[in-house]
Amino acid sequence: LVSRKYKPENTIVNLRGEQIGDNKQHFIFGPCAVESYEQVAAVANAMKEKGLKLLRGGAYKPRTSPYDFQGLGIEGLKILKRIADEYDMAVISEIVNAADLKMAANYIDVIQIGSRNMQNFELLKEAGGMKKPVLLKRGLAATIEEFINAAEYIMSQGNDQIILCERGIRTYETATRNTLDISAVPILKQETHLPVFVDVTHSTGRRDLLLPAAKAAMAIGADGVMAEVHPDPAVALSDSAQQMDLKQFDHFFNELLSSKFIK
Ligand code: PEP
Ligand code: MN
Repeated sequence: LVSRKYKPENTIVNLRGEQIGDNKQHFIFGPCAVESYEQVAAVANAMKEKGLKLLRGGAYKPRTSPYDFQGLGIEGLKILKRIADEYDMAVISEIVNAADLKMAANYIDVIQIGSRNMQNFELLKEAGGMKKPVLLKRGLAATIEEFINAAEYIMSQGNDQIILCERGIRTYETATRNTLDISAVPILKQETHLPVFVDVTHSTGRRDLLLPAAKAAMAIGADGVMAEVHPDPAVALSDSAQQMDLKQFDHFFNELLSSKFIK
């Protein structure tokens, strides 16, 4: 069902008026984790000034260590809903438990399925039964074929509103957090009819590489870029080393918009 052979034309995912998959480029920004109303509002304000309306923020954080901040849960979803209403934004947030999907659908516009859950087939099937767009991230060490099959699990249940997100894969290279598989973008665009995003934050894990990676994503044909922004990354409860502060975000976005890779 996700194959371009089955459906030659692009699937368009409409997020509060932004048509993802329309051959233009779209941007998702926001903090790694929702920490407070004020923290998310500071980022939403900075985005609003730039006309951006796709806001991310994690309420359920799949952390490597059980002792790290696990997210605010439903309180985090409520904060996102309040911001979405006040700022007229679409919010994207990861859900890790199939049993939470219906509840979460009351608060968020896009269900994110994270890298660690790309092959959580029960979660994929449940998300496939929802009438909500899904942003599906590539698994930590998933092949492109496995990634496409994960999307197929969702679509097989009737939900065709899927955005694929390349977020780097684990390789032997240690200079970056993950290895951004940039060629996955045109391959996914050729093999499927779904929009493809690149998460430059989790793939590189390096602030100095966010801009070049985003330019590469645009140049190679991605439908959009995702990056993490926090008002004060030094005190962030997760991913403090790689989120941009508001000034860095301003610079990042202005540079990206003025680059020749923007359509
Ligand atoms: C995220 O985007 O919040 C996240 C945890 O990313 P990933 O699932 O790609 O590691
Ligand atoms: Mn993060």
